[in-house]
Amino acid sequence: MVYYEMRAEYADGGSRGRIVQWHMIRDNGTHALCGAELSPDAEKQSDLAWGHTREKFCHTCGALYLRQVP
Ligand SMILES: [Zn+2]
Repeated sequence: MVYYEMRAEYADGGSRGRIVQWHMIRDNGTHALCGAELSPDAEKQSDLAWGHTREKFCHTCGALYLRQVP
């Protein structure tokens, strides 16, 4: 079973500072569904928080996630 989580993308490209948006990852990975490469140290959240974060979320990840999760 695939395990989904959200991982943050930061303004400076690293793993701290201002969060630009949230991406969806699989199995604790650093490669977002949309193809973005994220830091392994970047903050994570449960996929249940999708659409409920203060920061925006990646629309490409959202579309792919909704297609993959029944
Ligand atoms: Zn994304």
